[in-house]
Amino acid sequence: MTQDKLLRRSMDAVWHPCTQMKRHERFPLLPIRRGDGIWLEDTEGRRFIDAVSSWWTNLFGHCNPTINAAITDQLGQLEHAMLAGFTHGPVVELSERLAALTDHSLGHAFYASDGASATEIALKMSQHYWRNLGRPDKNRYLCLQDGYHGETVGALAVTDVAIFRDAYAPLVRAAQTVPTPDARLAAAGESPVDVAIRAAARLEAVLAAQHETTAALIVEPLVQGASGMVMYDPEYLRRARALCDRYEVHLIADEIAVGFGRTGTFFAHEQAGIRPDLMCLSKGITGGYLALSCVLCTDEIYEAFYDDAIERAFLHSHSYTGNALACRAALAVLDIFERDHVIEANRERARWLGEAFASALASHPTAALRQRGMILAFDVPDAPADFAQHMFHHGLDAGILLRPIGNTVYLMPPYVFDEGLAGEMASATCLALVRSLAGY
Ligand SMILES: *Cc1c(COP(=O)(O)O)cnc(C)c1O
Repeated sequence: MTQDKLLRRSMDAVWHPCTQMKRHERFPLLPIRRGDGIWLEDTEGRRFIDAVSSWWTNLFGHCNPTINAAITDQLGQLEHAMLAGFTHGPVVELSERLAALTDHSLGHAFYASDGASATEIALKMSQHYWRNLGRPDKNRYLCLQDGYHGETVGALAVTDVAIFRDAYAPLVRAAQTVPTPDARLAAAGESPVDVAIRAAARLEAVLAAQHETTAALIVEPLVQGASGMVMYDPEYLRRARALCDRYEVHLIADEIAVGFGRTGTFFAHEQAGIRPDLMCLSKGITGGYLALSCVLCTDEIYEAFYDDAIERAFLHSHSYTGNALACRAALAVLDIFERDHVIEANRERARWLGEAFASALASHPTAALRQRGMILAFDVPDAPADFAQHMFHHGLDAGILLRPIGNTVYLMPPYVFDEGLAGEMASATCLALVRSLAGY
């Protein structure tokens, strides 16, 4: 099939996500033929650095031999069996290893297929826990301003991104938002910790007034990804944890984007020295291979459902819960973390990335770079209209896949680059930036 024909057929038959389809009249879709490590290759043989890990999912490169081998091996044994009434080795091993990664503070794993469903599960579990405890009034949620937790109707209730939520407002029982601890809100002389303390004080006021009707607070630990890689100090999480304890409200850590080493520790919340009551995982969990998500919870929550009465059980279900192929991919991901000492090795990679961008951008009028582990971002003040679109296209011309959020350019690459590639990412980003600002 010729490339043009493939694009035309895609435009006719495929409704692409997060896209105004009409824009593809001017900016054609990009047909991808293969992936190899950090590289994606189109049908004409052009290669691009996947600097956003294909929507933050890919951890160890495309067509990773270890993950390929694990899935292939599993294919010869069992592709999928329903998880109600049945179990299998991969789901058991994955649940145990994830629990161990939380020092067994979150010892029970419930599976779904995507991030938004994990959010829904955590919200439902929290409310049902309080109901089982005879406190049915605790059925409301708090979320952070600028937070993102997915786009199903339930997840939109705790997602504070207007462009995703406004059209569906009549469907959504919106949660109460509390101020973001965004470090960029620091006034002159204030540190990121000061901003965190201020935001936590506002959280305290809301909890003091509403804790009797509040089931949970949901947060993206350390980095609010979808609203533009908003970074904040771990002090906020420490205070939120203490407040949630004091006011008997669950703390849900949505680690869908920031888990699996993205921020420098295996889970982002570790940097605050705390544990959540519920944690949502997805995206990197299978290294970007297969749709899988997971909610981990404490013994205390699990035990509130463990009973003779069926209605006290958590009856939520998805057809593909605990899919064996996806669990094997996830186990291979955990194997790679151990085998290659990825968390330690990423410290050097993060330094390469930071240094390469600091020097490449030294002469550009961008606001300060911000970085947390393997997430690097900068804002472009006074960017022209459609800046993100232009960066995307000039990025591709420069050999890099970038997908800015508004005026925020970010990189979130797979953990498979060396110092040379960090330099290539920085120079390609810089080239795309110069061209986008020049209005080519
Ligand atoms: C991507 C994301 C989600 C939603 O995951 P999907 O698989 O896209 O539904 C939820 N929370 C956070 C923090 C995310 O980044």
